[in-house]
Amino acid sequence: NSQLNGSYNFDNYIEGDCNRLARSAGYAVAAKPGTTSFNPLMVYGGVGLGKTHLVHAIGNHIKSTWPEKFVLYVSSEKFVNQFIESLKTNSVQDFANFYLLVDILIIDDVQFLSGKEKTQEMFFHIFNHLHQSGKQIVMTSDCAPPKLKGLEERLLSRFKWGLTADLQSPDFETRMAIIQKKMQADGIDIPNNVIEYLAYSVDTNVRELEGVLISLIAQSSLNRKEIDLELAKNALKHIIEDVETEVNLDFIQKTVAEYFDVTLDSLKAKTRKKEIVTARQVAMYFAKEFTSHSLKSIGYHFGGRDHSTVIHSVQTVSDLIDTDKKFKASIQELQKKFKVKTG
Ligand code: ADP
Ligand code: MG
Repeated sequence: NSQLNGSYNFDNYIEGDCNRLARSAGYAVAAKPGTTSFNPLMVYGGVGLGKTHLVHAIGNHIKSTWPEKFVLYVSSEKFVNQFIESLKTNSVQDFANFYLLVDILIIDDVQFLSGKEKTQEMFFHIFNHLHQSGKQIVMTSDCAPPKLKGLEERLLSRFKWGLTADLQSPDFETRMAIIQKKMQADGIDIPNNVIEYLAYSVDTNVRELEGVLISLIAQSSLNRKEIDLELAKNALKHIIEDVETEVNLDFIQKTVAEYFDVTLDSLKAKTRKKEIVTARQVAMYFAKEFTSHSLKSIGYHFGGRDHSTVIHSVQTVSDLIDTDKKFKASIQELQKKFKVKTG
């Protein structure tokens, strides 16, 4: 039993700027395991960026080409637990022998080996043996190898023998493509403006994006409503308020509009009337300050302005705070409303 999850493959692993090198290195390894210079292949990146998916895709691809090869996926946590168990039951040799038989070893989240010296020693032994026999090793980690604290130097130096590739947070286009693909796979219709809205709003990681989609699908079926922008906003509020207690952008816009006595719509409109421009710039400034929205996302929520407009607004407001006492006082007053809410 290879412990591979058959639903993670290359077809449903969307390629983008954020993962291009890792994905193509993974594909090369899957096509020629053990015989490329990418041995070991080390993929690192933050939570929810697709490490586990990618390494399963490698394993599944190899398995489908060479059913007779012994491909093994194991989390480092499981590796550690199995090893400890073998110590307790005096079966360390069996443990080692099992791993020495593997043709392709995929070991996920090696940061988990940190500080576990005995296990590292065993892993070092297995690693050397497999590598010498031309067997492929694929690893993942949540940070770059030099930053892996508590891992032995001799192990870290082995990791450098092959290729290290990182996964970045998905860029906008990749997020769009991921949403499209997932909804398509589930046979669910989602209008383009909703895809765009979600891709702009959820810019942290793919897992969170999937969480929003799941909530959206659930709400759509519970309310027997087609997916639309309204439903998407709800799903998002649900997730974002759950994940972090931040003031949301709608609240900032509403509060600032009220304060400057302009309409909410005017903040998002094209109008360049002085008092509206000021209110809009102040709202953008607070959006930058109090939410985790990217500049791009903030611009989007202000009538589709681009990120350079947001930068300019934030700068203008900062300058005014420095030079205009009255303005500074009103900003401080407004700020209190958001601070209270963030708690
Ligand atoms: P990690 O192991 O880095 O924490 P996962 O591999 O578990 O992340 O990915 C989290 C979720 O996001 C999974 O459901 C995975 O299928 C999905 N995912 C990540 N990257 C992509 C991608 N490029 N294309 C499609 N789905 C992705
Ligand atoms: Mg993972």
